[in-house]
Amino acid sequence: MTIGIIAAMAEELEILLKDLVLEEKIKKANMTFHKGQLYGNNVVAVVCGIGKVNSAICTQILVSEYKVNKVINVGVAGGIGKDIYPGDIVIAENLVQHDMDTTAFGDKIGQIPRLDTFDFKCDKEMVSLAQRACKEISELNSFTGRIASGDQFVANIEKIRWLDKEFGAISCEMEGASIAQVCYLNSVPFVVIRSISDNANNGAHMDYEKFIPVAVKNSTRILKRMLEMI
Ligand code: SAH
Repeated sequence: MTIGIIAAMAEELEILLKDLVLEEKIKKANMTFHKGQLYGNNVVAVVCGIGKVNSAICTQILVSEYKVNKVINVGVAGGIGKDIYPGDIVIAENLVQHDMDTTAFGDKIGQIPRLDTFDFKCDKEMVSLAQRACKEISELNSFTGRIASGDQFVANIEKIRWLDKEFGAISCEMEGASIAQVCYLNSVPFVVIRSISDNANNGAHMDYEKFIPVAVKNSTRILKRMLEMI
């Protein structure tokens, strides 16, 4: 079994890459695919770049060329709601693309037209593995729910309220739901695990800069524990 591990930014994968026993390193579509062994698993780890297009391309390469059996996306994200703080973990139960809008035709906001699903559901076993990993690292607060992805850094209180009202999302980021869509189309099980870097409100970019190290550390800890438990 081979697990594809995707992060949007180099800093989100940095710690794990240090532990990877590298077998092969190949550049495709301007992304470097690191094949090797990580905590007893065959993995291909890659930094895909920011946004839905980059992450979709990357996921399809992992599926078509590396024949990965599972995909895990880790990284940082904005938290939605007053009870969620920087450093907390969010495990996606399902994901939607909040910037998909064909409401002019009467579609629900977020619905990808002519697709037979509204949201993309994470693999139940992978979700429960992530939850167990969080439980073991007891000082980490974790939430499981819907993540809303879009090509937008959300830094606006109105937008967060909208994401909550329209989608019931607990977190927002810029890659998860497109990774999820590619996995869905290829019938590959996946999970998205993020740690909160900011509260997606006014000034989110400043919190993001401040909290990114702790968020990266926490999402990496969860992924490491998960891989050890597989
Ligand atoms: N210039 C910044 C851009 C970061 S974009 C940089 O290069 O560091 C934000 C990244 O973190 C994306 O990969 C996204 O998935 C995640 N993210 C964190 N907080 C977010 C928020 N509030 N809204 C959307 N994405 C967020």
